[in-house]
Amino acid sequence: MSNRLQSILLLGTTIRTNRFIPHRFTSRIWFCSGSFRNQTNMEIDDGSCEVVVGDPHLLDTKIAAMRNAGQAKLQVIADFDATLTKYRVNGSRGQSSHGLLQQENAEYDNKRRELYEYYHPLEFSPTIPIEEKTKLMEEWWGKTHALLIEGGLTYDGIRQSVADSTIAFREGVVELFEFLEERDIPVLIFSAGLADIIEEVMRQKVHKLFKNVKIVSNRMVFDDNGHLVSFKGKTIHSLNKNEHALDMAAPLHDRLGAVDGPTYENVSVKMRRNVILLGDHIGDLGMSDGLNYENRISVGFLNDNVENSLDSYCQAFDVVYLNDAPMWGVVKLVSQICPGGD
Ligand SMILES: [Mg+2]
Repeated sequence: MSNRLQSILLLGTTIRTNRFIPHRFTSRIWFCSGSFRNQTNMEIDDGSCEVVVGDPHLLDTKIAAMRNAGQAKLQVIADFDATLTKYRVNGSRGQSSHGLLQQENAEYDNKRRELYEYYHPLEFSPTIPIEEKTKLMEEWWGKTHALLIEGGLTYDGIRQSVADSTIAFREGVVELFEFLEERDIPVLIFSAGLADIIEEVMRQKVHKLFKNVKIVSNRMVFDDNGHLVSFKGKTIHSLNKNEHALDMAAPLHDRLGAVDGPTYENVSVKMRRNVILLGDHIGDLGMSDGLNYENRISVGFLNDNVENSLDSYCQAFDVVYLNDAPMWGVVKLVSQICPGGD
């Protein structure tokens, strides 16, 4: 199937309907191989989303293998910023968990912005060797964290920053978490951002705790007066999201209060060898490196610069959602793998 695109509307065909999925949701799926550069005939209607599947046969094989293995073998690993959250909010670029933070003293926001302007281009420089780049990222995260401490960040400040932020979950994220929670399938949110902020975003935007969700991210330590004094453990930055994985995971509800039911110990999560991985950068694929997985279905959200990045995303991910798509397609995917239940 050379350089050919087929589109099919899946609704009502191979995927069973589910109460989590709104009836209006349809996905236009492009099965393809070869280059996408000259494809200009992609169309999208309101209420539908565009999906690119590089190798549909391989995807079907993985879905079948994971369905046969059962939901007890399944786990989901997800990046946070621009994967679970929208890339655009109300027509503008949405904020990241780092970017939304406003310190009481605006001078520190400026200092962190200056660091961003210096280091962000280095992060994506094609000429800097990876070892050097990794050191630069450690430097960047270290300086940023030091500014948060020096600037006297408080937990109340985080709460207010989240309340004032333009950050929003994709449609369908809550339903995805609920679907997985009902089936005791663990979700690992793996982020180079800040765990405390991600928790606060969930608290304010979702208003719900999920006993199956863990966050692996940089975690703050506050003193009795609510002032940030340090960070726990080793820094997770954009280039080492593959190193610490489960060993740094802490239950989401550590801060948010107890919930009923079991939590997921690292060892039992590591026994779940079938993985659905969600990310918006090719580097996010490293999130499953610590796992000796049997099957992995990788889902990429290509939010921007589609024309230039589609080839590489299609080669890297099993499924690629375009243009800030909602999460309904992933809900459908897990409902295919876990057909039992409701
Ligand atoms: Mg991201």
